[in-house]
Amino acid sequence: MLCDICNEHQSFYVRKYEGVKLCRACFKKSFENKVRKTIIEHQMLNVNDQLGVAVSGGKDSLTLLHVLKKLGSRFPKFKLKALIIDEGIKGYRDEALQIASTFCKSKGVPIEVFSFKDIYGFILDEIIEETKQKYPCSLCGILRRRVMEIGAREMNVTKLATGHNLDDELQTFFLNIFHGEPTRIGRNKPLMDGSNGTFIVKVKPFHKVLEKEVSLYAFLNRIPFQESPCPYAGTALRNDIRSFLDNMEMNHPGSKYIAYNAVNKLKTLSTTVKKDSFMNCILCGSPSSNQICSVCKVTI
Ligand code: SF4
Ligand code: ZN
Repeated sequence: MLCDICNEHQSFYVRKYEGVKLCRACFKKSFENKVRKTIIEHQMLNVNDQLGVAVSGGKDSLTLLHVLKKLGSRFPKFKLKALIIDEGIKGYRDEALQIASTFCKSKGVPIEVFSFKDIYGFILDEIIEETKQKYPCSLCGILRRRVMEIGAREMNVTKLATGHNLDDELQTFFLNIFHGEPTRIGRNKPLMDGSNGTFIVKVKPFHKVLEKEVSLYAFLNRIPFQESPCPYAGTALRNDIRSFLDNMEMNHPGSKYIAYNAVNKLKTLSTTVKKDSFMNCILCGSPSSNQICSVCKVTI
């Protein structure tokens, strides 16, 4: 069957939510166009930006680096830098660091590593063992966000891009529902403005792209990535939500897109989300919505 776009090459992928069959070249082009349009729509980038990309060694972040490098090559002042966090997870993070460093080098993008050990004085394995954490990802997430802030500021980047895709965003919506945190739903946006310089501005150029299409694009472009999952990931509630959403998509193609669009409409309907206000943590001085920030609560 021929590609619906070029009518020339054999199709290899059916994009069910649009009802089109695509060949390899047209799929790649449409993927890049979607990301470019997202960047323009949300004004995510400026030609003078020093953009940091938070990489993990996984497919989403390395594919994001690849696409941004390609899209940014037309702007001479636009600079990319990569940042990676070493939480200290034995038998997992070392491989990721290796893959990410080699890939960044091949793209001519400088990469810097920021470790829990240097910033907090302990590694993730140790604090999980010590505190007998039932849900390591919640703790790791809090600690990672702070390291990302510190790293981005040290690297002097103007914005930080993350590889969150449509599936991640939809999972986060349901996570907030199951955690009973409805106000967080309205705060999660494709461009997080950093609350007037309190935090680094974060952008998510893949937020309208299905995870499956990121994998496909990575495969077609031979982007290397770490395939083994984090040993702590299995305990996350996110996994159950992912399975539920994947089942929905399999049985009712297009469900993820429909749900994602509905979530965005809900966000615009919500009028009760207050503007974030921050004070300084009384222990470490970092911006916080409470007297003691979430990092100090788990580390002191
Ligand atoms: Fe941290 Fe969980 Fe991610 Fe592992 S899967 S790096 S523990 S957030
Ligand atoms: Zn603090």
